[in-house]
Amino acid sequence: MTPDVTAGDGGTGRRPRAVFYTLGCKANLYDTACMMNRLRDAGWEVATPTHDRSGAARARGKAGTRKPSVDLFVINSCAVTARAESKSRQLARSLKRRHPGALVALVGCYSEINREQAAQAAGVDFVLGTADREALPELVAGRGLAASPGEERIPGAFAAERTRAAVKVQDGCEQFCSYCVIPYARGPCRSRPAEDVLDEVSRLVKEGFREVVLTGIHLGRWGSGASWGAGKVPGAGETSGPRLADLVRRVAAVPGLARVRLSSIEPMEITDELLDLIGGDPRVCRHLHVPLQSGSDRVLERMNRGYTAVEYLAVVDRANRAIPGLGLTTDVMVGFPGEEEDDFEATLDVVRRARFSRLHVFRYSRRPNTAAADMPGQVSAGTKKARSERVIALGRELALRFHQGLIGRKLEVLVEKVSAGRAEGLTDNYARAVFAAKGSCPNDIVPVRVVRATASGISGEIAG
Ligand code: SF4
Repeated sequence: MTPDVTAGDGGTGRRPRAVFYTLGCKANLYDTACMMNRLRDAGWEVATPTHDRSGAARARGKAGTRKPSVDLFVINSCAVTARAESKSRQLARSLKRRHPGALVALVGCYSEINREQAAQAAGVDFVLGTADREALPELVAGRGLAASPGEERIPGAFAAERTRAAVKVQDGCEQFCSYCVIPYARGPCRSRPAEDVLDEVSRLVKEGFREVVLTGIHLGRWGSGASWGAGKVPGAGETSGPRLADLVRRVAAVPGLARVRLSSIEPMEITDELLDLIGGDPRVCRHLHVPLQSGSDRVLERMNRGYTAVEYLAVVDRANRAIPGLGLTTDVMVGFPGEEEDDFEATLDVVRRARFSRLHVFRYSRRPNTAAADMPGQVSAGTKKARSERVIALGRELALRFHQGLIGRKLEVLVEKVSAGRAEGLTDNYARAVFAAKGSCPNDIVPVRVVRATASGISGEIAG
C-alpha cells in the first residue's frame, strides 16, 4: 500500500528528503551513490548512506533517527545470502513501523531476482531491480514526491566523504559460480569505457577526493563484453582479453589523484602486467582482494571457481614477489554442500600459507535456482557456525602477524577522520591506522611510523 505522502514542497517550503541504506558489496555502494545523486539532481535532500558489507544494515542508522521528516527510504539490497535478503525485509518493516508516512523502496539485486517476494514484503511500497533502478526519481515523482532540480552531481561520488570514492567500471558476471545468484541479478559482463571512467575520476579529484577504488562485479573482465556510458571499450563485443592494467595505469596518471585501489579481483585474472604496475607505481595501492572461497580442489570444482588451490597459491606467490608489503585480503566460504572436515582443513591450510592480511568469512547460504542449492551434502548450521568461527580466529591471528610485520615501517595514511586529537585512516596496503593528529586533517596523506600492532590495525606517530 502506498502511504499518503505530502512531500515535495508540500506547502512547507522544504525539499523532500531521502535516506539510503546499502547492503552488500562496493558495487552496490556505488549504485547507491548514483541513485542518491540522481535524486539530488532532481532537487532532493539526501542523507549520507548507511552501508554494511556483511548485509547487516542498521535499521537505527543515525540518518533514520535524527530526521523524522524523511519522505523516502531506499534500501539497496543484496542477494548473496538468504540472510542479506532477510535483512532487507526486516529493515523495510522496521523503517515503515517507525516512519509510517514515508515511502519505502526496495531496489537492487534481491528485488531483481525475487521481485514478487520483495514487493510483498511488509513495509515495502515499491521495488526496482538492477536494470530499472535509475528510474527512481521519475517513479517517486509519479507518487507525489517531486522537487526543483538541483545542481549536477558526479555519478558515484559520496558528497559527505571526500577521501575515497568508489568508481564502478564494470558490471555483470558470466562465471556462474554454483552458489551465486549475482549473474542472474546483474546479467552479462559490461565494461565502462576508459574515457568515461577518466572523466569521472578527474571530476572526483576536483571535488577533493584523494583516492578512488575501481569496482566491478567481475573487475578482471573489464575491457570485455558490451560497453555502457559514453564511448567504446577496447574489447567491446569480445569475451576475453583482460585489459584492466591499462585502465589502472591511465587512472593513476589523472593529475591530482593520490591513489587508485582495486576492489575484488578473481585470482586467474591477475596478470603479471597488473602486478608489475601495483609493485612499481606508488600511486597504485599495494592491496589486492582475491576471493579464495575454499582451499579444497574438490569443493572448488563443485563451486565452479575455475582454479585449484595450487594455482591460487601460485598467484599469491607471484603477487608477493612483485609487490613488497602487499596487503592481501580474501573471502572464504565455509559449509559449501559436501564440504567434509578434510576439505575444511585444506581451506585452513591454504589460508595459513597465503598469509592473508584480512579475511571475510561467509557461511554458505542456499540460494534458489543456483546449482549448489540442489547439491547433496548440505552442511548443518551448527557445523557452518563452528567452521566460520575457526576461520575467523585464524584470520585474526594472520591480521595480527601482518600488522606486526609493519612495526618500524613508515607508511602513508590517508586520514578519514580526526576526533579527540586522534587521526584515523587507511594505509595503501589496507591497514587501519591511528595516530596523534598534531594538526592533520581529514583528506591529508600523512607519513606515519608504525609503533604498535593489533589484529584490528596499527598505531604510530607522524614520521619526520
Ligand atoms: S565470480 Fe562467481 S561469486 Fe563472483 S559474482 Fe561471479 S558468479 Fe558470483
